[in-house]
Amino acid sequence: MKSFDSNFIQYLQTKGFDDQQIEQAITKLLQYRDMTLEWNNKVNLTAITNPDEFLQKHYVDSLLCADAKELKDARTVLDVGTGGGFPGIPLAIFFPEKHFVLLDSLQKRLKIVREMADTIGLKNVEVVHGRAEDLARDSKYREQFDLCVSRAVANLSTLAELCLPFVNVGGTFISYKGPNCSVEVNDAKNAVRMMGGTINRIEQPKPVKYPSEHNMIYIKKVKKTPGPYPRKAGTPLKNPIK
Ligand code: SAM
Repeated sequence: MKSFDSNFIQYLQTKGFDDQQIEQAITKLLQYRDMTLEWNNKVNLTAITNPDEFLQKHYVDSLLCADAKELKDARTVLDVGTGGGFPGIPLAIFFPEKHFVLLDSLQKRLKIVREMADTIGLKNVEVVHGRAEDLARDSKYREQFDLCVSRAVANLSTLAELCLPFVNVGGTFISYKGPNCSVEVNDAKNAVRMMGGTINRIEQPKPVKYPSEHNMIYIKKVKKTPGPYPRKAGTPLKNPIK
């Protein structure tokens, strides 16, 4: 296996990928990392500038749910607040048969993500510009996704309102959170319930060879989100449901 950290390869194997999948993905991952770091000199895509740290903070982290049943079963995946393409791009690279929509309110970043995805030949990625609050009211997107993922965008109560309206009943929202999120999870219980969700489980994955303090919160959509939600753009962040 060429020119990639052996720890990372071992990590990918524990996630269930075979040598052929890893080999095919690695060329794309390397190209995407190099292009991101290059673009980062002009446009702020990531605070991480060290290639090894990039691997851990963006790739290892993004793939923490790669072996989850909810992801394996999904055909359509939405990444809310994708920024420079995380976790959406690494997941899309490893799951070419699934359709990924990467959403962000910052068009400048999205255009670069689109260009980089095209350069590495990702055919299963669509980028959509807009606020989650507005797009969740569009019937093209509302309750149309089997899975929604989101990392580093907002507190869990706000996120429940931004993300759960996109998920179809029976689907799942996975929120990537840092350590010590129990107060945040507790504060979000009402919002999750009101948006038609229920917290299914919280996992603390321990990737081989890498430190990780992430909590992965799996929220199942059990009922339709009531029509008035999400509230107008900005309100879920300014005034999260308590
Ligand atoms: N998810 C990426 C990651 O983990 O590297 C980017 C995280 S960045 C801190 C947060 C991103 O969420 C920004 O790109 C921002 O534009 C986007 N964002 C914040 N609120 C949003 C909203 N209401 N609708 C769409 N995008 C939003």
